[in-house]
Amino acid sequence: MNSETEKFLMQRIRSFYASAKIKAVPSIEAREFGIGSLGKKIVKRHLSFSSEKELNEFLRMEAPPFISYSNAYYQKPSARPMEAKGFMGADLVYEFDADDIPTPCKKEHDSWKCQSCGAEGKGSLQNCPECGAVVKVKQWFCSECLEAAKRETLKLLSILEKEFGFTGLSINFSGNAGYHVHVRSKEVHALPQRARIELLDYLTFNGFSLEEHGFGVPLSMGDSRNSAVLTCPIPSKSKGLTARFMKRLVSFIKEWDTEKLAVYGMISKRESLFLQKNKEKILEKMEEGILLPINASRPKTSQKFWKSLIEKALIEETIKLNVDRQTSVDMHRILRMPGTIHGSTGLIASVVERNELKKFNPFSQSVVFSSEPVKVFINNSPEFELKGEKFGPFNEQQAELPEYAAFYLLAKGRASLGGNGNGL
Ligand SMILES: [Zn+2]
Ligand SMILES: [Zn+2]
Repeated sequence: MNSETEKFLMQRIRSFYASAKIKAVPSIEAREFGIGSLGKKIVKRHLSFSSEKELNEFLRMEAPPFISYSNAYYQKPSARPMEAKGFMGADLVYEFDADDIPTPCKKEHDSWKCQSCGAEGKGSLQNCPECGAVVKVKQWFCSECLEAAKRETLKLLSILEKEFGFTGLSINFSGNAGYHVHVRSKEVHALPQRARIELLDYLTFNGFSLEEHGFGVPLSMGDSRNSAVLTCPIPSKSKGLTARFMKRLVSFIKEWDTEKLAVYGMISKRESLFLQKNKEKILEKMEEGILLPINASRPKTSQKFWKSLIEKALIEETIKLNVDRQTSVDMHRILRMPGTIHGSTGLIASVVERNELKKFNPFSQSVVFSSEPVKVFINNSPEFELKGEKFGPFNEQQAELPEYAAFYLLAKGRASLGGNGNGL
């Protein structure tokens, strides 16, 4: 990033904090804070603020491109090392990142380049298809990506509310690629790491055993049992995880048309005819704990059919949380402070009311900068939409953009100020 670009971004951030009033997180005096610079999310940790006023004064003075706060509560949040802080407990936090969800649009807006052999292409992958080296991926997050992250967030919220009875969950847009859910109720503060991992396993079906949950389905297709009749947990008598899983399985039979069922279950025309005629009977049998064979004389086919649907139900019901399990349960991490700027986009990490989440659009509601025109040189950018206006795609060209769109590309490193893109 050239100095002119950096100066512009810092000025805009400063002007935002000059007039913004950032709402403190609960128990602000017990939280550790960290700030980042353009390009580095955390450069300084162990900061603390005694009040909302002090926090806002700091933000006005320093205008950091990133500010994060701890999910933990400490007696002395600024003490070092960590052990000296006096840990008092921690919120539960769940992060949803479009990064972790393989949306089809990634093929359109992500691209990769192999540093070792020079091969390149569209989409997101880890290893070079030519030489196998780890590739560098240029990511982008579009509204489809963020909708996918939001769907997972909604799934999680429903489980936390319905199955755990949590209330007062706090939700915010991350400012870039996803959403954060903070569970701040007192009863979770003392949960040890072990319990946090268990919770995570519950949400992600990690270690979920079909047989333990009442399925008489062979776990591998090579299983020697040949019976066509398989057992399942009784939907109306199941609880928690199993109930949710069975509800999904039942919904496939109820809601999918025969063709879709046949495709997912890999069955023949004859079997799909049987399926069509016997939907009611299949549902009745499920309520008796039996997965009706769709072809009594071909047990393997029946098993394959049900196993495919069960696998699909597992995929649908698994919450696609941040894949890094260790980070997810880390009690000493710091994360984006809700209501503040994300320095790689210029979008606000907006707090979203629970009943507003479904229709929340970060690309309009989290935009804060003005529409003043700014001339930038754009290296490349997919098409994007901010505040209801479409921009791009751009490739090696100059453009005049509203300040908020200019900030967006500049902060993402896709554009620069100073005319020719070389920082001169
Ligand atoms: Zn390569
Ligand atoms: Zn996308």
